[in-house]
Amino acid sequence: MSDQDTLQDVLDWVCARAEGQEEFIEAFTEVAQDVSADVKANASFQSHAILRRLSEPDRIISFRVVWEDDEHRVQVNRGWRVQHCNAIGPYKGGIRFHPTVNESILKFLAFEQTFKNALTGLPIGGGKGGSDFDPRGRSDAEIMRFCQAFMTELHRHIGERTDVPAGDINVGSREIGYLFGQYRRLENRFAGTMTGKDIEFGGSHVRVEATGYGLVYFVQEMLKAQDEDLDDKRILISGAGNVATHAALKSIEQGGRVLTLSSSQGVLICEDGFTAEQIETVMDADGSSTERLKSLLDEEAGMQWKEDAQPWDIDADIALPCATQNELDETAAQTLVDHGIQLIAEGANMPCTAEAIDVFEANDIPHAPGKASNAGGVALSGLEMHQNAQFSQLSFSHLDEELKQVMASIHQQCLQFGQQDDKLSYRRGANRAAFERVAKALVSQGLF
Ligand code: GLU
Repeated sequence: MSDQDTLQDVLDWVCARAEGQEEFIEAFTEVAQDVSADVKANASFQSHAILRRLSEPDRIISFRVVWEDDEHRVQVNRGWRVQHCNAIGPYKGGIRFHPTVNESILKFLAFEQTFKNALTGLPIGGGKGGSDFDPRGRSDAEIMRFCQAFMTELHRHIGERTDVPAGDINVGSREIGYLFGQYRRLENRFAGTMTGKDIEFGGSHVRVEATGYGLVYFVQEMLKAQDEDLDDKRILISGAGNVATHAALKSIEQGGRVLTLSSSQGVLICEDGFTAEQIETVMDADGSSTERLKSLLDEEAGMQWKEDAQPWDIDADIALPCATQNELDETAAQTLVDHGIQLIAEGANMPCTAEAIDVFEANDIPHAPGKASNAGGVALSGLEMHQNAQFSQLSFSHLDEELKQVMASIHQQCLQFGQQDDKLSYRRGANRAAFERVAKALVSQGLF
């Protein structure tokens, strides 16, 4: 490693070490390309060594989770916690339960989380955890036993000043309650070691709504920068979980028309736009995403269900992918462009592939990466930690206002760092602004 260390040297080195970890390589390459010029310009970053440091998580904890199902059969799963970087605060990031979860996916998500958390301006580092456990079709008692078994292993690695997990896909307030309860029992102490808790036991107002609401606040900032607003905008949303439904509710409240929600099995379309009550029906229904969406299907009210389809081939102004990583590829991006899309903001983590983002940029369509536009959730987690540390509880309106300010500040950072050749790239702005903060913290604290 020397001053001659080029970006290509770093990428070759990282790709060789992370062979087969596609999502991680994609996320790392994107950041490295965007910040490479800054690294070279800043002597204290010691050439590209800082990128090599950030390519390796501080540690990956991997453990067995053993639990009993309702038929008294012993079930075995794998659990992980990736502690990526705590240079600016305790490791912070969600826990995901999904059969697709593996070490590679969590490594990519933890890496992204470090940058996202840096953008919030709060003192939180980056981490991510989860299990390949599939909660679909599992009873409430099974979910509880799984969460307890998972925490029985995880508890020794976390703490309110060490690592503070929260929810993510398939981990909502019910699972956080079971996980937190087991932590409290095992440690015999009540501490803000998890966020996303219910309001009765140390949770924060606005935490449930924050990712979806924050996404819409970010979109409003993007629109404001173009002298536009949300009024009557046609919006395509993918997903039907916490982020998608809260983004839908806030969009409708702010005058937008939400035309779609979706699951991995199809899309529910309402050309006139769903009402807030209809979105709430989906939120309150039981079952899988598909079942919850189908429970709303009402052809007389102008709705239709398209099996095996995505929301991206409908005329619209705004697309908010809120389902999962790499859900929107190059072909879908081109379809959106052909249908006149004006703006894309990611509610999920890295839902657009690198090729899809190239299509948007080639067509001068503003695209906000998740680490900027979906940072509202973790920002509210940071504020929950703050309240827990003080044994206080702030009001909904106060926290909603703070959320708006955080999203406006992230937008501002994207504008400040994202200009290149008279063009604005939100992706570049987010990567450069976040890297600047993390890299400075690492350099200031010496080599380790
Ligand atoms: N899972 C969320 C995210 O991807 C929230 C993490 C947190 O609140 O710690 O940002």
